[in-house]
Amino acid sequence: MGTIYSHSRLSSFENCPKQFEFRYILKVPSETEGIEAFVGKRVHEILERLYLFVGRGQIPGIEKVIDRYQKLWEETFDAERVRIVREGTPLSYYRELGESCLRGYYLRHYPFDESETLGIERRVVFPLDEAGNYRMQGIIDRIARARDGAIEVHDYKTGARVPSQRVLDQDRQLALYQIGLAREYGEDTPFRLVWHYVAKNRTCSSTRGPDELAALRETTIQRIDEIEAATTFEPKKIALCNWCEYKERCPLHATPETLARLEAEEKAVEEAAALAKALDERQLDLL
Ligand code: SF4
Repeated sequence: MGTIYSHSRLSSFENCPKQFEFRYILKVPSETEGIEAFVGKRVHEILERLYLFVGRGQIPGIEKVIDRYQKLWEETFDAERVRIVREGTPLSYYRELGESCLRGYYLRHYPFDESETLGIERRVVFPLDEAGNYRMQGIIDRIARARDGAIEVHDYKTGARVPSQRVLDQDRQLALYQIGLAREYGEDTPFRLVWHYVAKNRTCSSTRGPDELAALRETTIQRIDEIEAATTFEPKKIALCNWCEYKERCPLHATPETLARLEAEEKAVEEAAALAKALDERQLDLL
């Protein structure tokens, strides 16, 4: 099996198979981005940078961190591309939200010596089965060794909702990362999964035992088999449809006029590509 799966790839299929088809099979480029995702990325980038400096023994002051965030916002914000879905919410609300996430995190964790950072934004690729037929990948926000020796998998979340402990104890994403990291740090090494809900200034954690990890491998493999066998991808109306980058072309939401326009655009692109190819071939014939 050539495809390397990720938690987000699986989630996309589970949330709405049509969105999965647009994103991973048809690879329709996403022309817009929700403001929440934009803020989340900026906060992640600043925290990544903060820990790089901490690793060098140079802890920047809080105002320097916020200043960097504001500059990064200016450099990356594109009003044509970033969408505010919640009508009536001003852009300044989101900009301040990012700042308050960073301030809260900084003040809560300063001087950042609760654990030793082992990796920042680290990509992991690992098999779920012995034969290596089912492979997963992910990017871990921060890997650390805690004072009690546990390897911690840290994840920053900028969403407003903090899930219950019961939900976190069944969370797939960080538990999968534990499976990947156990190959590196040892199967018997204690692990801790840590979520930082920075918009609420709350930190939550959970652990997984061998039986839970074995069950997770099994259910993830079953999910991958289901996706590989899928031949149709039906749209599924979900609460997040308004944030879906394919809503404009989704059969459940698109107007007939939009669908006709998109079809005409796609046809024009195909015709232009065919014409370019024909011209290339003709030039080769003349050489
Ligand atoms: S708009 Fe909703 S139903 Fe349509 S593809 Fe996106 S998530 Fe699925």
